[in-house]
Amino acid sequence: MYHKYDAIIVGAGGAGLMAALYASRGVKTAVLSKLYPTRSHTGTAQGGVGAALGNHEEDNPEWHTFDTIKGSDYLADQDAAKVMCYEAVDVVYELEHMGLPFNRTEEGRIAQRPFGGHTNNVTKKPVRRACYAADRTGHMILQTLYQQCIQHNVTFFDEFHVLDLIIEDGVTRGVVAVEIATGELHVFHAKAVLFATGGWGKVWRVTSNAHTLTGDGPAIALRRGIPLEDMEFFQFHPTGIYKMGILITEGVRGEGGVLVNSEGERFMDRYAPTIKDLASRDVVSRAIYLEVRDGRGIDGKDYVHLDVRPETVNRYFERDGIKNPDGTPRRITAADIEAKLPDIADFTRTYLGVDPTLQPMPVQPTAHYAMGGIPTDIWARVVADDKNTVLPGFYAAGEVACVSVHGANRLGTNSLLDIIVFGKRAGIDMVRYCQESDFLPLPKEPEAFTREQWEALLSRQNGRERAADIRREMQNAMMDYVGVFREEAGMKQAVEILEDLKERYRHIALDDAGKRYNTDVLEAWELGALLDTAEVTAVAALERSESRGGHYREDHPKRDDENWLKHSLVWAKDGTIELDYKPVTITDYQPKERVY
Ligand SMILES: Cc1cc2nc3c(=O)[nH]c(=O)nc-3n(C[C@H](O)[C@H](O)[C@H](O)COP(=O)(O)OP(=O)(O)OC[C@H]3O[C@@H](n4cnc5c(N)ncnc54)[C@H](O)[C@@H]3O)c2cc1C
Repeated sequence: MYHKYDAIIVGAGGAGLMAALYASRGVKTAVLSKLYPTRSHTGTAQGGVGAALGNHEEDNPEWHTFDTIKGSDYLADQDAAKVMCYEAVDVVYELEHMGLPFNRTEEGRIAQRPFGGHTNNVTKKPVRRACYAADRTGHMILQTLYQQCIQHNVTFFDEFHVLDLIIEDGVTRGVVAVEIATGELHVFHAKAVLFATGGWGKVWRVTSNAHTLTGDGPAIALRRGIPLEDMEFFQFHPTGIYKMGILITEGVRGEGGVLVNSEGERFMDRYAPTIKDLASRDVVSRAIYLEVRDGRGIDGKDYVHLDVRPETVNRYFERDGIKNPDGTPRRITAADIEAKLPDIADFTRTYLGVDPTLQPMPVQPTAHYAMGGIPTDIWARVVADDKNTVLPGFYAAGEVACVSVHGANRLGTNSLLDIIVFGKRAGIDMVRYCQESDFLPLPKEPEAFTREQWEALLSRQNGRERAADIRREMQNAMMDYVGVFREEAGMKQAVEILEDLKERYRHIALDDAGKRYNTDVLEAWELGALLDTAEVTAVAALERSESRGGHYREDHPKRDDENWLKHSLVWAKDGTIELDYKPVTITDYQPKERVY
């Protein structure tokens, strides 16, 4: 089936919906999503969205900019970080005016809480910058934006899985998608296409990410000759529920929760004496691994405790002299935990049988967030080489994009911010581009390439390999060798394993040859995307012989600005992987050592 829209938006998370709202004001727009929109991963975000509103104490966007750059280990492009942090204030009020039910201060302003790495740049003390709606901030953002889209008559194609991007003579012409309900292929002819397809945590064994986060967007880009940027940087969040990876928001530590080892010691005192448990995520994740490695995991196992019991938190508040804004000593009660972290309390009771007001929670680092992705400029336009040449009509925003505002490590609350700010910018610029451009003709049979691969996959009833085995082996290799700690021999092994798995993938068997709701073939397709994404991640990580942010090399433990203060670009050209680099944009802040 054939469709024609000026702008096509792939993905209905926060980035896609914000872009859709803005694009649909100016041009004919449709959103395609493999999930029903409100099932997008944005809806699971808990802790908050960062903006220097200063509702509790002094704050300003410049401090937010500096914290973002410092947190990024100086790999963020500073012009982009500045755009995001300065526009943060307006977009958060915009969400408020759309009806987002933020928690409130006593005076009725948007309530804010501390989060890792957010500081007053003068006193170096934590500052409350995370705007939140209990521990359901992402859920509220997603619902609010979806309601707005419905109100403004945005067209949705729900449960349409995009399989290919159509580019001809270097200009974007549309996408090919399969309608999941019927198995039918659809061609969407467009002037501009935005990928807002989210992350790819499913590359790793322990992850906070939803099952659907399989790197479809980056894999399609790679297949179409577009490079990916900074793929070696993937964030491990320090506090996933032990073994399950389900996220426990940093908001727990924001409310005063502390990490404790088997000796009952609050070990972040040693690793980050000033900011302690609220140091940036890469620092805290490594600290947990080191505690475990030194034999101080709980019961000798590979986890530690996250303790938010009021008696523990209040003891540390007292020890550290933590005060309320009015100067009275800060205290927390069980009722505060239930009110500010209701979903977390619910998760841990349901999944662990642990009541967080009475017992500590077992946690370990969990693969969480892609700092790298499809390279873009500050208007979300894809830039497809080391000279930042714009690929006309192709846009990317949200977690799938690399602007780069997060550099080597993202600060908590900066992703919800990124999706709103750059989703909006994408929508605005797509309108401009569509109004200035004509529809260019589609190539002959634009879906032929996809149909061939799709039908080849569907016809594989006699293969000898199971998708589940290949997925598990990939996830293990990535977890063990391309995880929190990395070194050359392990990563080489991972690359070899991945090459072997890609070969085995060519022989997988499917049980379902049907057309309707064939999740078997979709999962196999997604596995192909995961393998491509994993491979370029491992190769880029092997090449970068330094430690920076989320990329920690035991064989090169220091950051090396002389050789590595640069973004990586990785291409997969005809089965071979090529790497190149481009400079980091530095405006106001020269790289310094990060001290917390
Ligand atoms: C558990 C958890 C908690 C988090 N908490 C926070 C937090 O408190 N603060 C913060 O700032 N960040 C947080 N993050 C990160 C943040 O939520 C995400 O980075 C962000 O929401 C991603 O939004 P997105 O719009 O880019 O993509 P998503 O919300 O992931 O949406 C992706 C969309 O793409 C669609 N899609 C994907 N592939 C295809 C395809 N092939 N065809 C069609 N459609 C496709 C999906 O259907 C979906 O609609 C959290 C993340 C997780 C996992």
